Amino acid sequence: MEISVIGTGYVGLVTGVCFAELGNQVTCIDNDVKKISALKKMIIPIYEPGLEELVKNNVKKKRLKFNTSIKDGIKDSKVVFIAVGTPSRPNGEADLTYVENVARGIAKHLSGYKLIVEKSTVPVETGKWIEHTIKINNKKKVPFDVASNPEFLREGSAISDFMHPDRIVIGVQSKRAEGLLTELYRPLKAPIVVTDINSAELIKHASNSFLATKISFINAVSQVCELVGADISKVAEGMGMDKRIGRQFLDAGIGFGGSCFPKDVDAFIHLSEKSGYDFSLLREVRRVNERQKGYFVKLIEKKLWILKDKTIGILGLAFKPGTDDMRNAPAIDIIKMLQQEGARIKAFDPQAMEKAKEFLTEIKFCKDAYEVARDSDCLVILTDWNEFKEIDFKRIKKLIGQPIIFDGRNMYNRAAIEKLGFQYFCIGRK
Ligand code: NAD
Repeated sequence: MEISVIGTGYVGLVTGVCFAELGNQVTCIDNDVKKISALKKMIIPIYEPGLEELVKNNVKKKRLKFNTSIKDGIKDSKVVFIAVGTPSRPNGEADLTYVENVARGIAKHLSGYKLIVEKSTVPVETGKWIEHTIKINNKKKVPFDVASNPEFLREGSAISDFMHPDRIVIGVQSKRAEGLLTELYRPLKAPIVVTDINSAELIKHASNSFLATKISFINAVSQVCELVGADISKVAEGMGMDKRIGRQFLDAGIGFGGSCFPKDVDAFIHLSEKSGYDFSLLREVRRVNERQKGYFVKLIEKKLWILKDKTIGILGLAFKPGTDDMRNAPAIDIIKMLQQEGARIKAFDPQAMEKAKEFLTEIKFCKDAYEVARDSDCLVILTDWNEFKEIDFKRIKKLIGQPIIFDGRNMYNRAAIEKLGFQYFCIGRK
């Protein structure tokens, strides 16, 4: 099938390349000229495992193209996905400016029937607004359909998530739209939930908010563990073996971040309020999440005493391992709080240091964990990158100023670390 994807970011590029890999003819469109010219030269603008190879392979096989123009990019496409950003406005509401711009752009260049699919995460009723926008700008009255197809991939495992989804959700209002999307997704052999557009939009917001709630719940329990001397890793293990609960998203730490959970929880709170429901449960989810970062900084302060002029060595900046995405990474707030107390920051992240420069200043970026450790007053783990499990802590011990580790991701075995002569502090674990 000929398809186009408008918005070539973490979701759009992965969606485009995966549909190409499945044998479709795909055009990825973005109004960021630099991004598209880089992609045309095979320079991949984001880090996502396996992405570069897949892009190169599909461009070589002439199944994947890049374009900056909506007009040219959608010309031959039957299905057009919208995958532009939907950031938060200051009041928490989703900013749908990019979605509206794209809808207008599509309407102006409609030639023959097209199915326009919103893949961006959007509040309920956005589908209706997209339809309305296209209708009023579609002077030639070309037939079209609008559908919702929220994306559930996770950065760091985006390709595998796209290719092996637990389910595919499609919100449609015509059999024609249902048929096209079902055909497109058939090769994935995944269960498809077909529903109306409003319900599809709500499934995405409700899913992300539920997962965020799970994280805040376990973080709140970790605080109780600290107070009563229980061990959160055992509590999570015992809870997670219950199939009704499940073990995933029960890892206590410094809280959730990233480009989705914080903004999607905020947007869901806002949407509910606007519709007449006070979703106070989700407000508490946000509060617990914010508190968790402050709690971690206080823990560091309690153990180091004065932070002014101390050197804090940070390992991990990205909001999670496997990505270079720094949007709403807990590391940003934590590092700013430490800097406010007068601490000096050295940091290393395997992928996110370039992007971190957009959010953080006055940091000495280092080439590896050992350079971070040299003469630092402690090591602070903020992202649980797999390679941090391979660190030679005997070597670290020789380099570090004070052998103290604050593990915000509960990734190390306390006994093993303490045996090497470190003091080890983590979240809610004995
Ligand atoms: P992103 O910022 O990485 O990419 C968005 C792209 O859209 C950018 O490259 C931008 O230049 C482009 N764009 C903006 N306006 C445009 C226009 N008028 N014409 C063409 N291109 C335009 O964002 P993302 O992380 O890919 O997220 C996109 C959407 O998918 C959001 O709604 C997000 O909530 C949702 N989502 C994200 C993830 C994730 O893990 N990142 C997962 C599921 C859903």
